[in-house]
Amino acid sequence: MTTQIPRKILLNPGPVTTTDTVKQAQVVPDICHREHEFTSLIQKIRSDLLKVVHAKDDYTAVLFGASGTGALEACLSSVIPEGKKVLIVNNGSYGERLVSIAKRHHIEVVELTFTFDQELPLEKIESILADDEAIHSCVLVHHETSTGILNPLREMGAICKRTGKQFIVDAMSSYAGVPIDVYQDNIDYLISSSNKCLHGMPGLSFVICNKARVLETQNNARTFYFDLYKQYSSVEKTGEMPFTPPVQAAYALNQALDEYFAQTGAKRFAQFRSNYTQLRQGLETLGFEVVTPEARQSYLLMTVCNPKGSDYNFNHIHDYLFERGYTIYPKKLSIPNTFRLACIGDLTPEDIDNFLSELKQYQLMCSESLQQVEE
Ligand SMILES: *Cc1c(COP(=O)(O)O)cnc(C)c1O
Repeated sequence: MTTQIPRKILLNPGPVTTTDTVKQAQVVPDICHREHEFTSLIQKIRSDLLKVVHAKDDYTAVLFGASGTGALEACLSSVIPEGKKVLIVNNGSYGERLVSIAKRHHIEVVELTFTFDQELPLEKIESILADDEAIHSCVLVHHETSTGILNPLREMGAICKRTGKQFIVDAMSSYAGVPIDVYQDNIDYLISSSNKCLHGMPGLSFVICNKARVLETQNNARTFYFDLYKQYSSVEKTGEMPFTPPVQAAYALNQALDEYFAQTGAKRFAQFRSNYTQLRQGLETLGFEVVTPEARQSYLLMTVCNPKGSDYNFNHIHDYLFERGYTIYPKKLSIPNTFRLACIGDLTPEDIDNFLSELKQYQLMCSESLQQVEE
C-alpha cells in the first residue's frame, strides 16, 4: 500500500513535519491495547524514552493518553504533597500555564516572574529555595516555546540539589531537541510528548520519573485519571496502560523513536541547529529581525519581528504561505509585530530555502501592490 501523502512544511512547534514512515506506521491491523503484542510495544517505548535522556533503570517512563499539558497536570497534581508549596519560574506563556495548573489544584505557588529578555537571577532563586522549607519542588520550563529562550537547566538542577528540592522540568519542546542528561541535570521529573522533537504523532505524553521519587507519591493524586502513581504501578504490574491509549499514535511513536536512534541524538541536534541558523540568516537578509536573544536561543524556535516600516498582517502572511504548503505560527507574548518559527520536524535545508523564497515572493507582492496604490 503506497499512497502518496502530500508533504507539508510545519514551522509551528508541534505537531511537526513527520517522515512518511512514521505516518505509515499508524496503519496497523486493529488491536486491543490489552493484548501482549501491544503491551510489549509499550514496554519498548518506555525503555526507549529513558534512553533519550540517558536514564537507567532507577528511572521510569509513565505514559498518558493526552497532549503534553495532560502529563504536566498529572505531574504537578500528583507530586506536590498536601500543605507543601511549589516554586515555579515563569518567563513565558508556558511558565504561566504551569502556575495556572498548580493553582487549579489549590497548590500554593511561589511564582517568580521574569520577562523573556531577562537573565534568570540564579543566586536569588537559590536563596528563596534555601530559605523556605515548605517549598517541596521547583519547576522550570526548559525551552520556553513562547519565545525560543532556553533556560539554564543544569544550573537550576544543581541549585535544586544543593537546596534539597525536587526538580520538575517541562521539557516538552526540548526533549530530543537538545542534550539532556537526567543525572547531570539532577532531574526528578521530566515531562514531554510524542509530537515535538521526537517527530511522532500527537496523542501521547509522558513523565520520566526518578523511581524512588514516584513511589513517594502514592497517596498524593488530586485527580482520578491523572494519578501518576497509579498510572506507573498499573503498567508495572500488568504491562497495560490502565485506560485506553491512542493505539495508532503509539505505533507511530515507536517508529519515531527508532528513527531518532538511527539518526543519533547528536545528528538530530545538529540538524535543528543548522536549519535554525540557515533560517535566521535568511530572515535577516530579507529584513526581518529575530528578537530571541542570541546568547539564550534554543536553536529550535525563534520569535521574528516584521521588517521595519512594513505593516504585514499575520493572517495575510499566514494564509499566503499556508496555500503554498508552509505553516507559520502566531506570537504568544505581547511583543508587537512578531510571529514565531520553529525548525523542529523532519526538515531539510531545501525546505528552509524554499520557505525563504516564498517569503521573498510575498514581500515582492506586497511592495508591488503598494506601488500600484501609490500610482
Ligand atoms: C507544547 C508545549 C506544551 C504542551 O502543549 P500541548 O498542546 O498540551 O501538547 C507545554 N509546554 C511547552 C513548553 C510546550 O512547548
